[in-house]
Amino acid sequence: MKVPLLDLQAQYKDIEQEVLQAIREVYAHKIFILGPEVKKLEAEVANYSSTKYAIGVASGSDAILLSLMALGIGPGDEVITTPYTFFATAGSISRLGATPVFVDIDEKSYNISPNEIEAKITPKAKAIMPVHLYGQCADMEVILEIAAKHKLPVIEDAAQAIGAEYGKNTLSKKAGSMGAFGCFSFFPSKNLGCMGDGGMIVTNDADLAQKASVLRVHGSKPKYYHKVIGLNSRLDTLQAAVLSVKLKYLDSWSIKRRKNAELYNELFKAKGLLEIITLPFTEYQNKHIYNQYVVRTPKRDQLKEFLKNKGIGTEIYYPVPLHLQECYSSLGYKEGDFPLAEKAARETLALPIYPELTKQQQELVVDSIVEYFNT
Ligand SMILES: *Cc1c(COP(=O)(O)O)cnc(C)c1O
Repeated sequence: MKVPLLDLQAQYKDIEQEVLQAIREVYAHKIFILGPEVKKLEAEVANYSSTKYAIGVASGSDAILLSLMALGIGPGDEVITTPYTFFATAGSISRLGATPVFVDIDEKSYNISPNEIEAKITPKAKAIMPVHLYGQCADMEVILEIAAKHKLPVIEDAAQAIGAEYGKNTLSKKAGSMGAFGCFSFFPSKNLGCMGDGGMIVTNDADLAQKASVLRVHGSKPKYYHKVIGLNSRLDTLQAAVLSVKLKYLDSWSIKRRKNAELYNELFKAKGLLEIITLPFTEYQNKHIYNQYVVRTPKRDQLKEFLKNKGIGTEIYYPVPLHLQECYSSLGYKEGDFPLAEKAARETLALPIYPELTKQQQELVVDSIVEYFNT
């Protein structure tokens, strides 16, 4: 029995006819750019995320880029974010000539440590960009409080977290709905993935929504009249059609991911592995959607190799924290600057968690990890 990290075949098997029908409809009307399916999906995602507006864009990376552009962020500005994330978070900031300013993570949740943000705010700071890593929201209550105090907008990188909810005290909010902008990715490995690249921006601010939607068509409004310089970054009609079909299943898939996570937790506990590996930690009353189920152990690299030889797929998200990436050497960071992010980069391992994973497959994963630590 093999256990891949992600099995898209299993998912498409169940929805193939519906997806093919949606594709046929687009092929029939041939409005391939900003067709009716894009508008429909935007309304659906806005509704799903409890936001007023949604703008379909070419990728999650562009969702971040366009959000920053709509906020007028550019050369000389600073954006505070986490070094332990996918590159696009900081890369989008840098592409605009702005500078990512990193803050270490919380050791348990792997999200930005809110208590260290304030010390990094300089007069150049123009936004705070938390990432809801692995499908769990960052500590938004504290982040929003600091942001309000310093009058900084918050951009939520919710690329891994569509459908996740932040819960603390009386607050319960959908990922993407809490900041000035929320950014989603529809990359195939995300919980809501399309058949290529795609992304979405959500916001409650009419003015910002307008800015972002003009920027995604080269800043053109009306057509061929440009008050601002934008880019070509639209969600394809075809991808929107596929995503509309899949969005209906997203909550049921998230429930299955959560059930799989609970079973892993039980199995690891039953096998007495809690002393040896650290399981994912869910903060407060957060609703985690487990885009990734990430465990940690100092023996991570050897364990990964052992599991690979057993036919079990795993992945390291992420092996090099962003402050130590070669392209950022000019920012002047050095090893030891963010010890918790660096430790996580050395120790974390994502296990298969996709919705269609079977109990037998999960048992094999856990038994194999037991075997590794017993030999
Ligand atoms: C996937 C991802 C992105 C980028 O999304 P793309 O659609 O691949 O451009 C940005 N941030 C995070 C945290 C991601 O996981």
